[in-house]
Amino acid sequence: MQKIVIASGNAGKLREFQQLLAGCGFEVLPQSEFSVSDADETGTTFVENAIIKARHACAKTGLPAIADDSGIEVDALNGRPGVYSARYSGPYANDANNNKKLLAELVNVPDEKRTARYHAVLAFMRHADDPTPILCHGVWEGFILTEARGENGFGYDPLFFVPSHNCAAAELDKAEKNRISHRGKALAELLVSLQQQ
Ligand code: IMP
Repeated sequence: MQKIVIASGNAGKLREFQQLLAGCGFEVLPQSEFSVSDADETGTTFVENAIIKARHACAKTGLPAIADDSGIEVDALNGRPGVYSARYSGPYANDANNNKKLLAELVNVPDEKRTARYHAVLAFMRHADDPTPILCHGVWEGFILTEARGENGFGYDPLFFVPSHNCAAAELDKAEKNRISHRGKALAELLVSLQQQ
């Protein structure tokens, strides 16, 4: 079975990758199994950061690797927090502080101007010097609510309204979120590309 390293320490993301890729003949291994530390996300785009993380995992393990970089783009904030979504509220950022800051920044923004979208970019690299990484990009359109709703998901999900389902992302069950989310779409695309390898 072809081994692939996942360049993430996030248990939820690892499970998702393992479920989807196991059925396609890939053995998915977390980078922690090789004691790989997190790479510095020094890029200014999701694409750069996904490549930085995948390259780092390849270099440290000698195996092919998949990395993802994601975030939320809010139109009323000119695209912020974008690639800085995890670190939006500062060095001690966490989901609660990030959501609090987002609500504060949008306090006077009317409903029709609260458009936003999640992005996820996945990078698959065969080796650290791979000059043609496979890149897949998933987008999920929505609006920022004026107060939190729901208990599921993570990050900005309680504030992310999903028009197609008339609820917040945090009110969707895991399977439905994976089916329609930015990450789910990018993963489905990656699966097709990997099967063609
Ligand atoms: P990454 O781990 O560097 O990709 O950080 C992505 C950040 O974007 C997360 O920490 C969240 O703040 C936000 N984010 C990305 N995807 C999602 C999602 O599906 N739900 C909620 N927040 C997300």
